[in-house]
Amino acid sequence: MKTYQVSREGYYGEFGGAFVPEILHRCVEELRNAYLNVMESDSFKQEFHSLLRDYVGRPSPLYPAKRLSDKYGCRIYLKREDLNHTGAHKINNAIGQALIARRMGKKRIIAETGAGQHGVAAATVCALMGMECVVYMGKTDVERQHANVQRMKMLGARVVPVTSGNMTLKDATNKAIRDWCCHPSDTYYIIGSTVGPHPYPDMVARLQSVISEEIRKQLLEHEGRDYPDYLIACIGGGSNAAGTIYHYLDDGRVKIVLAEAGGKGIDTPLSAATIHLGLPGVIHGSHTLVMQDEDGQILEPYSISAGLDYPGVGPMHANLARQHRATVLAVNDDEAVRAAFELTRLEGIIPALESAHALGALEKLRFRPDDLVVLTVSGRGDKDMDTYMKEMKSEKQE
Ligand SMILES: *Cc1c(COP(=O)(O)O)cnc(C)c1O
Repeated sequence: MKTYQVSREGYYGEFGGAFVPEILHRCVEELRNAYLNVMESDSFKQEFHSLLRDYVGRPSPLYPAKRLSDKYGCRIYLKREDLNHTGAHKINNAIGQALIARRMGKKRIIAETGAGQHGVAAATVCALMGMECVVYMGKTDVERQHANVQRMKMLGARVVPVTSGNMTLKDATNKAIRDWCCHPSDTYYIIGSTVGPHPYPDMVARLQSVISEEIRKQLLEHEGRDYPDYLIACIGGGSNAAGTIYHYLDDGRVKIVLAEAGGKGIDTPLSAATIHLGLPGVIHGSHTLVMQDEDGQILEPYSISAGLDYPGVGPMHANLARQHRATVLAVNDDEAVRAAFELTRLEGIIPALESAHALGALEKLRFRPDDLVVLTVSGRGDKDMDTYMKEMKSEKQE
């Protein structure tokens, strides 16, 4: 049977694999041998699900958005990951990986972060579990995302500003990998999305799959059927999207729409639309689509949203696009901002800028009145208020 899930060797079609320096082979092997056994053990499942319920606040609601539905002429449900503790879906993954790390006997946690959301999730979980936490963050991002840096510090994490390259997420990730190389035996690297060497993309997708597990149950309660016609999510590395679609990957009744960050437009140099613009290559241990020039130099991505500003994409998503299982739309900065204001005014929900890209996909699709649409709101917009206020001001002046 054709499947869009990972193969035993860690591949999604031609994408995936584990391309790591010699010194990390053992670490990645160790994790690969451990992760499924740990995740399928009763003790892990019980601890993970208790924390998701009592600490994160799951299940997150599946909210029928009446006024938004009227606007687009279909029936839209919002999966409210914005209501999770720490404000986004990232906490699901951070808790799961910290529990895996503990069961592997690791004492020290490292993480990379761009906008700071994953750093905050990792720091939160380390405080909860009493583990040491070091977060690598590009110096540019440290300056841009000051509030999240403060949160991480208050939570007890050490935030290391990275000054190589453009001083953003890609450089922070390189630095985290280098740290891992120096401390392979006691350190666990919590990657924040469905990227990196196998088994990370599959492990993160499984940890986030609680989202689609809940969607199935909640749709059945609301609608008497457990699948939608459309699933819509934004993609940076791809973890909230992977969680949203996980249980529907091989269900042909469900159309999958992924929104990547168009930036100023895919025909300009300022974009982060990796699936539209990328070519096959290796980034951070995975063979996937990468934004690169003719010499294979990685190009600096741009998006108004710091969480989508990554020059690679998860191998699962590269394959879904290649196989035409998913429709991938590039949603530009202005379209995302407009969609964020629209949701706010129609439903009283201020979404994260990342999630606003998923909302921006709605106007690019043609629905029938009885279409059931589930759209994941990956996070809340508190962290983006400065950007939203700037956009509101410039709109008024026009
Ligand atoms: C980090 C982040 C994203 C992008 O990451 P994915 O791995 O693609 O989900 C999207 N939305 C929010 C709110 C985020 O914090």
